[in-house]
Amino acid sequence: MFMSERFSPKIVPLVDLRTGSLAVPAGAMSPGAKAVQPGQLTDRLGRQLRDLRISVTDRCNFRCGYCMPKEIFDKDYAYLPHSSLLSFEEIERVARQFVQQGVQKIRLTGGEPLLRRNIEILIEKLAKLRTVEGQPLDLTLTTNGALLERKARSLKAAGLQRVTVSLDALDDAVFRRMNDVDFPVADVLAGIEAAQQAGLGPIKVNMVVKRGTNDQEILPMARHFKGTGIVLRFIEYMDVGATNGWRMDDVLPSREVIARLQRELPLVPLEPSSPGETAQRWGYADATGAHDAAAGEVGVISSVTQAFCGDCNRARLTTEGQLYLCLFASQGYDLRALVRGGATDLELASAISHIWSDRTDRYSELRGAIPADAGAGVRRFGMRYTGG
Ligand code: SAM
Repeated sequence: MFMSERFSPKIVPLVDLRTGSLAVPAGAMSPGAKAVQPGQLTDRLGRQLRDLRISVTDRCNFRCGYCMPKEIFDKDYAYLPHSSLLSFEEIERVARQFVQQGVQKIRLTGGEPLLRRNIEILIEKLAKLRTVEGQPLDLTLTTNGALLERKARSLKAAGLQRVTVSLDALDDAVFRRMNDVDFPVADVLAGIEAAQQAGLGPIKVNMVVKRGTNDQEILPMARHFKGTGIVLRFIEYMDVGATNGWRMDDVLPSREVIARLQRELPLVPLEPSSPGETAQRWGYADATGAHDAAAGEVGVISSVTQAFCGDCNRARLTTEGQLYLCLFASQGYDLRALVRGGATDLELASAISHIWSDRTDRYSELRGAIPADAGAGVRRFGMRYTGG
């Protein structure tokens, strides 16, 4: 039985609704009060802000049981009204402030981001932003791939650099069962192919592994993507959201994924390619035991069994314009109220700076102590809300 997701999240107001005045903690708002050093926003644990994930819609065309199960997200589900969503202009404005404070990578997500009408217009706007070093952003998007074949070229033309495609099985029956809308795997594979041809690479494919549901697909997926230049990453099934009926028994730990791969496809550990990287990298080994670059690599994301917050550099902007510092955060900050309440860019930048600089959370590391069935008082937001 799934618990209802119709919660009212705790949102920290940044505008005093009675007076309309800005209500960010003392000192954060006066011009120059928190002199923002471009590119050097560091929190109290020494973590630099580098990565912004922006959710552009709360809707999805799949009903994966671990994310947006049919029982909850049915035809009566109350999605956000369009007026609640940040407009493209608002997203660009907020993103610009983040970029001026050190963000180098923006990932569009959702819901299913390709369902947001004219997403290419937003991509064009974001593609024009430059990091504080004057470089283009690493601009990417996470998609279920259903609309990718149709859209790959226009996304590339708009300035998107690469895509990550979620794909949980190669076996058509397993895949259809998991997406729960009877969507054929061939269409997602065609989307990946179209993305490759359009130059939206390097492409990553993310597979959420659920024991007893799709773990038999680990090896077929690895064989399929080995040597294609596409990096396959295995994600531990997480207890995000109160709707997916999560049980630890359903989690297949990453170390077991690697052990199963090793039996047929020898692997060697690789160094992280960037600080704060979510995946542990493993390269396919050649006959001498060295990394065979042509065969490529896989990754594992051990968000349950080896959660580590020490180098987290990510912030998340929800569809409604709330800033969350973690998938597992229990509160967000209402940037939309600032944007729509007449805040200047400097005030917006100061608010972001203040929120990040004050950050001390380590939700992922600590949440293991919270029982998954803790119920009222413990808020868990599905990825469709905070963005995957
Ligand atoms: N619709 C897009 C997609 O399918 O990639 C973007 C949003 S989706 C929420 C982002 C990623 O989150 C997907 O790879 C999805 O599999 C993953 N995800 C959702 N719920 C999850 C869970 N409970 N555990 C692990 N990964 C999850």
